[in-house]
Amino acid sequence: MSVLDLARAEIRALQPYSSARMEASGGELLLNANESAWAPTGDNGAGCNRYPDPQPAALVDALARLYGVRREQLLVGRGSDEAIDLLVRAFCRAGRDAILVQPPTFGMYAVCARIQDAAVVEVPLRHDFTLDVDAVLAALTPAVKLVFVCTPNNPAGSVVPRADIERLVRALDGRALLVVDEAYVEFADEGSVTDLLDRYDNLAVLRTLSKAWALAGARIGCLLAHPEVIALLRRIMPPYPLPLPSVDAALLALSGWGQANALAHIGVVRAERARMRASLAGLPGVRGVLPSQANFLTVRFDDAGAAYSRLFDAGIVVRDVRRYPGLDDALRITIGAPAENERVLAALAFPAQARGVA
Ligand SMILES: *Cc1c(COP(=O)(O)O)cnc(C)c1O
Repeated sequence: MSVLDLARAEIRALQPYSSARMEASGGELLLNANESAWAPTGDNGAGCNRYPDPQPAALVDALARLYGVRREQLLVGRGSDEAIDLLVRAFCRAGRDAILVQPPTFGMYAVCARIQDAAVVEVPLRHDFTLDVDAVLAALTPAVKLVFVCTPNNPAGSVVPRADIERLVRALDGRALLVVDEAYVEFADEGSVTDLLDRYDNLAVLRTLSKAWALAGARIGCLLAHPEVIALLRRIMPPYPLPLPSVDAALLALSGWGQANALAHIGVVRAERARMRASLAGLPGVRGVLPSQANFLTVRFDDAGAAYSRLFDAGIVVRDVRRYPGLDDALRITIGAPAENERVLAALAFPAQARGVA
């Protein structure tokens, strides 16, 4: 069987929109897409009067090299969020199929499923935020087409060992696609599972330039998967998904000096993560700091609401994650630059009165 047997039959049969750029490439005088003949003010040679390449070759090549996959195993989209949405739409029939997630986890999987009217099967992580592979397999039904695993986990910061991913993808063979979200893998000790893609056609990996690559504003993310899955999703993707300025920003970020810069910052984040974890753990009112392999720390407080307000009053906004199971006393704090992290410690360390707050 092919992994595409898991996808919606009507999507497999769909006649995709055929854009002007897809029907004809090359040529000198482009009069086939009703574009303006004039570049906009301040364009500086970017060529924004033209529709962009649907999957720009230079960017696909650079990303394929970065992630160690073949070009046809990679889809670039507007953040990994777009890939999550495309997967759910291609694999889940409204009102019939389902996805499986392990709370606490990234919220977009369930949101995309609900938009598509797919059910959401929840198999909570264990108390220590590790993945229970047996529980996932026990909860599997024929309706489940996609199993999302977030590692490092957002918001818990925990990782799923590679052996567990492999066990899971094997067990799901012919039953569901395993989607491993590696948005934070650059900050982790344990590496990516992209090298398993050649072995398992029901494995997909999400990567993004939004975190370690400092390009959240450019909206560039990737799905790495079997070429048939990539080709299927390309059929339902809007014709010109990637804005030219974003593509240019991504190419710069992936250049030699761009990569050196990103690596240096990853090193700073990892060092600051260790320093902050130890410092936060020693503060009054802090119950504990979860071990994290991502670029944030999830911190338990005696009174998380008060800690949130205290940070907010100091001009610092963190993520209140108390609504997540197992985290009803916690805030998620992104690792910033060293001076920013100092402000967090200072805001939490001093009594409120000392800062003039009643
Ligand atoms: C931030 C994040 C993403 C990235 O989303 P983009 O759309 O690529 O910006 C994906 N997954 C998780 C778990 C995240 O935390």
